[in-house]
Amino acid sequence: MKCRQADELMMDYLDGILSKDKAYQLNQHLQQCDACVETFYAYEQIKKELHQMNIVEAPIGFTEQVMGRIEEIKPQYDLQKEMPMENITGIVWGIFSILFGIGVLLVIYQQEILSFLLSYPYTSSWIGQFIPTFDLLTQYLQQLQKNMSGIIVSIRQIVENGKTLLALILVVLGMVQYRIYRKEKVEV
Ligand SMILES: [Zn+2]
Repeated sequence: MKCRQADELMMDYLDGILSKDKAYQLNQHLQQCDACVETFYAYEQIKKELHQMNIVEAPIGFTEQVMGRIEEIKPQYDLQKEMPMENITGIVWGIFSILFGIGVLLVIYQQEILSFLLSYPYTSSWIGQFIPTFDLLTQYLQQLQKNMSGIIVSIRQIVENGKTLLALILVVLGMVQYRIYRKEKVEV
């Protein structure tokens, strides 16, 4: 028998569940092993002291008090919970696609938006402040147009194609957002 097995048998002995057969085997080991004898006496000593100790009863209301404290601690766990990565990704996608969408609409309908804003007195005076800037920009673009008249046709082509491309990117953004939204719904 090995010391580890003897140790298990000693535990059983202390619990009072050691069979006669096993007790004999343990006795055989103890006659040959001083280390286990020492352990055995140590266990016996602990058992004796445990018996001498008076069992202290928990004061009245102890359980309720402990459970109350646990309830108090609980909300803090919820507060400390980290925001899931997917939520952050969703928010970033959302903000990005909204800004992108506004940008696209401004580029495509700039003339319409300008004339709409200028048709109302209130927004007209407000947008009027920006007119010099627009004029400067237009002048600059016209200058640029003169300088690049040779390749302006192809640039126009690119802008036209660009509108289609922007619309396509918007659709893709919408789809990605929908997928993230669906995933969140399913996981909840
Ligand atoms: Zn031993």
